[in-house]
Amino acid sequence: MNKDKRYQILSRLRDNNPNPTTELEYESPFQLLIAVLLSAQATDVGVNKATRKLFPAAPTAETMLALGVDGIKEYIKTIGLFNSKAENAYKTCKILVEQYDGEVPESREALEALPGVGRKTANVVLNTAFGWPTIAVDTHIFRVSNRTKLAPGKNVNEVEQKLIKVVPKEFKVDVHHWLILHGRYTCVARKPRCGSCVIEDLCEFKEKTSD
Ligand code: SF4
Repeated sequence: MNKDKRYQILSRLRDNNPNPTTELEYESPFQLLIAVLLSAQATDVGVNKATRKLFPAAPTAETMLALGVDGIKEYIKTIGLFNSKAENAYKTCKILVEQYDGEVPESREALEALPGVGRKTANVVLNTAFGWPTIAVDTHIFRVSNRTKLAPGKNVNEVEQKLIKVVPKEFKVDVHHWLILHGRYTCVARKPRCGSCVIEDLCEFKEKTSD
């Protein structure tokens, strides 16, 4: 895909949604971190349902630590993999309290050292809580980047590196959310809704649908 077309795609996604953000509900970097940690292999809707009760009961690392692993489990047992997620959330709270005064560190290295936090979660937190131009490639971003040919790659790391390289600076902070939302609602996995897609004329996918 050439540079001009890429610019047009990103401009159009921006016009369509000038202030994109995550659909996870949170009120602090700490709550975002926990919500992202809980969201692995789960939907944002399912995570929000659980955190609407969990966060009022334990809004900070200190209060969540006080719940204990079993206490956290009670609130998140509707979410897949809740046993290991509760363990990770508890251990993460312990480290935050003991090493960072209960705050979320604004550092990739420190975030990736937390239990259950990998590159993707760190990218989401750095981008969404702290405004870093990081791009967390999930299944939606991977699919949209490949179908459109915006940033094709064989795996999520390749797509991430390609996006970092080709996305102009002015779009870098928001591109992650535009592509997720586009993949979640329009360029869906089974049958993309090309007929109602705002970038249909620019997308280079060969098997477009008329829906
Ligand atoms: S035209 Fe179709 S394949 Fe291309 S981005 Fe839109 S929905 Fe996805």
